[in-house]
Amino acid sequence: MRCEVVAVGTELLLGQIVDTNSAWIGEHLALAGIDSLFQTKVGDNQARMVLAIREALARSDAVVVCGGLGPTQDDITREAIAEVMNVPLRRDADMVEAIRAFFGARGREMADNNARQADIPVGATFIPQKRGTAPGLICPVGHKVVYAVPGVPHEMKEMMERAVLPDLRSRSGEQAVILSRTLRTWGLAESTLAEMISARVDTQSNPTIAFLASGIEGIKVRLTAKATDEATARELLSAEEAELRSILGDLIFGVDDETMEDAVAALLKAHGLTLGVAESLTGGLVGARLTEAAGATEFFRGSIVAYDSQVKFDLLGVAEGPVVSEEAACAMAEAACKVLGADVGISVTGVAGPDEQDGKPVGTVYMGTTVDGDTQCAHARLPGQRDQVRQFACISLLDLLRRRLLARELPANA
Ligand code: ATP
Ligand code: MG
Repeated sequence: MRCEVVAVGTELLLGQIVDTNSAWIGEHLALAGIDSLFQTKVGDNQARMVLAIREALARSDAVVVCGGLGPTQDDITREAIAEVMNVPLRRDADMVEAIRAFFGARGREMADNNARQADIPVGATFIPQKRGTAPGLICPVGHKVVYAVPGVPHEMKEMMERAVLPDLRSRSGEQAVILSRTLRTWGLAESTLAEMISARVDTQSNPTIAFLASGIEGIKVRLTAKATDEATARELLSAEEAELRSILGDLIFGVDDETMEDAVAALLKAHGLTLGVAESLTGGLVGARLTEAAGATEFFRGSIVAYDSQVKFDLLGVAEGPVVSEEAACAMAEAACKVLGADVGISVTGVAGPDEQDGKPVGTVYMGTTVDGDTQCAHARLPGQRDQVRQFACISLLDLLRRRLLARELPANA
């Protein structure tokens, strides 16, 4: 079973809105085990829409057209599909009343234009609307099918899940489920990571294994499994995840949407520890990321942004002298514990650029961690320009803390 997407709207071609609908539909077709080999974008022009839908139908068994179901004169998806089907449109009186009732329920009059949304190609059926005013359409073309869904994303998604995907699944007969899982790694170059797991990548076809470099968020390893049912697909993913974990170990910091701060937050909570931060070149980014994790109040005491050297001396007790140094980072981490009344302290000081400082090149950072009264310092040369250095410094520091907590014995009651 093959299904294509045709996204309608001149604004998509002009880059005024990004076509997130096609991405979402593509993902969900894959999850339903339906092959999707082409996606097309076309402007609000009937001749070109007809062409795009015909071409898609020639290549595939089904086509999802999204957008252009609105009430205005440039919303002509209904007309275009009727032309492809070679049938006229008829206005459905019951649907006109349903749309009128929709407006009535919101205390508004229906505009005459909205009656157009009750037009349907002869031989097609409506997908009743739940969220917006426009119903969707299921339009048979020979033994193939064209669906029309609204362009408004939340209306489209609701209709896809309720009507289109189940209809496609029942037509496809094949009951394949495709599931993905993403293992998130940090701290390795893509080539190194690829080398470490090349044996798995080369021998595995189900799940397949793919890499996705995500800049400062590390490298993602994406597993995709295909099976006849969801439970089997999940088992395949879990078995391969275990294999990869045995190779990559704690290079993996999270799964799917888990972020580095989520990982740190979970560890701090498991250990029953509170955290204080003293940060310089990151200017508050570390604190900001930590407070993005849900339930940050449980462990996060606060962050001191000690940007100016004098503040480091006066507020954090850093000894006068160069502040991009191991000594400064250690003093800052210890002060984060003391000043903020935290169990664990972390710190970062360095050169974000554009100019070097105290003879230290851009990207030089020192990161301190104080855990159980033991202070350690790490030194790194981070790549990139100012913004990248600051972002890298932030995630590097969080990763250092994560590793120290992983090495720590969990309390007996945890
Ligand atoms: P309406 O009744 O709002 O006119 P419609 O079915 O005619 O709905 P469009 O006019 O094509 O849909 O799009 C309505 C809105 O939905 C757009 O302004 C845009 O915000 C969003 N939208 C449309 N198509 C897409 C798409 N492919 N990806 C993301 N958003 C989209
Ligand atoms: Mg519209």
